[in-house]
Formats: sequence, structure tokens, C-alpha cells
Amino acid sequence: LTDITVRKTAEAELADTREALLRANERLRASNRDLEQFAYVASHDLQEPLRMVVSYGQLLERKYHDRLDDDAHTFIDFMVEGGARMQAMVTDLLEFSRVDRMGGEREPFDSGKAVEEAKFSLSQAIAESGAEIGHAGLPEIVYDSHQFVRLMQNLIGNALKYHDPGRPPKVTVTARRDGHQWEFSVSDNGIGIDPAYFEQIFAVFRRLHTRDRYGGTGIGLAVCKKIVEHHGGRIWVESTPGAGSAFFFTAPDP
Ligand code: ADP
Repeated sequence: LTDITVRKTAEAELADTREALLRANERLRASNRDLEQFAYVASHDLQEPLRMVVSYGQLLERKYHDRLDDDAHTFIDFMVEGGARMQAMVTDLLEFSRVDRMGGEREPFDSGKAVEEAKFSLSQAIAESGAEIGHAGLPEIVYDSHQFVRLMQNLIGNALKYHDPGRPPKVTVTARRDGHQWEFSVSDNGIGIDPAYFEQIFAVFRRLHTRDRYGGTGIGLAVCKKIVEHHGGRIWVESTPGAGSAFFFTAPDP
């Protein structure tokens, strides 16, 4: 009898805990939705005032160039530069909060063509760095094609940005079938990432290498993670600091 009582009490406690966990999970989801709604509204409404700060700063510099002293030039430069950096962050944040809103349009397309498109949009960085970007035998997949191009732009763009100044970037995009899905990889010969940060770099605003000369907003990989998870996949990184990194993600195989 005692055993039965103990078991019943344990079962009841388990059911209560499960119930509490479900409620907590629902509250967490709701507050995430609120946060994303806030990010969307805030970043959208910040665009116009920021544009004014930057463009009037530039106008001031142009129109009154000869009448301003050196200090004034320096201060305006700081203002315009800070404003432009904030504009980039706001634009990226807006894009991040939009991923869920859009991206329902899945269609079959050639992922190799998407890589070509991404390369085209990065042609200036490719030419400047003397990068070599290889891809071969990439499959047809069912995905939001616009978002797939974005994924490739962010991953290849990072591979170009975080390259070792001592050697031109070499980037390779591959895909292999893994059961019912494709596993894509974008690998580089760049500066690499400390394994302690393998998870963190996918969070919004998380940046490493900030003391170096690399600019950025820390949103690119968070956007990638959202796009991949939106399509039911997973994204991760493997890297050897000083030798290079490889970003992997899975995509459903139609
Ligand atoms: P950012 O705008 O800073 O590039 P991301 O979200 O795209 O933001 O990347 C987050 C951080 O991850 C970067 O600040 C950088 O330190 C690191 N990182 C991303 N891609 C690479 C790469 N291919 N090689 C080395 N470090 C990388």
C-alpha cells in the first residue's frame, strides 16, 4: 500500500512539474515574441532619424567645409561614422526580426546558382582580397531561395572578412547527402575561432575579434541560424584557430 501511495505521489508531482514546465515554456515563447516585435518596431522607427543624423552631418561637412576648424571636422566625422554604424546595426536587426515574418515561399531551386548570386553581390570584396571561391556539384533543394542566398552571402562574406592577412582567402562550398537531408559546408582558411565561442557566435550582437580591424554588427550569424532553423535544419561551426573555420548547416532533401 505504501509503495502504491509513494508511486502515486511521485506521479502527481511529476505531472505538476510537467505542467509548470509547459506553462514556463509558453511564457518564454510569448516574451520572445514580444521582444522580436519590439526589435522590429524599434529598428523600423529608428531608420528615419538615423538617416537624418548621417545625411545632415555629411551636408554640414560639405557645405561649410572651409569655415570649420579641425576640431569641428573631427567631431562631424565621429558623428557621421557613429550614425552610419548604428544604421548598419538597425538594418541588420530589422532583417533579423523579419526572417520569421517572411520566408514562407519554399520552392525547388539550384543551390549552386544561389552561391553564384551570393558571389556576385560580394564581387568587390572578392576582387579586393584576391579570394578563390570554389563550389561544385551543389544540389537542387526546396528552400526560400531569397533566404538561401542571404545565408550564403553571410557565410561567404564572413569567410572573406575574417581572412588571414598573410594569405588570400580560399573558400569552398560543398554539400553531401546525410540520410533525409543535405549537409552544406562553407569552409575557409582564415583566422579561425576559439572553440570556447562555437555556440556564442550565433547569438545576436555576439562578436569576437573586435579589437582587430574587422567591422561588423554581430547579427549575420544570428540571421543564418534563424533561417536554417526556420527550414527545420541545424547550424554549427568547427574551427582550428589560426588555420580556418568550417560552417555547417543541414537542409531538408526534397
Ligand atoms: P559580424 O557582424 O561581427 O561579422 P557575425 O554574426 O556574422 O557578426 O559573426 C559573429 C562573430 O563570429 C564575428 O564577430 C567573428 O568574430 C566570428 N566569425 C564569424 N565567421 C567567422 C569566420 N569565417 N572566421 C572567423 N571568425 C568568424
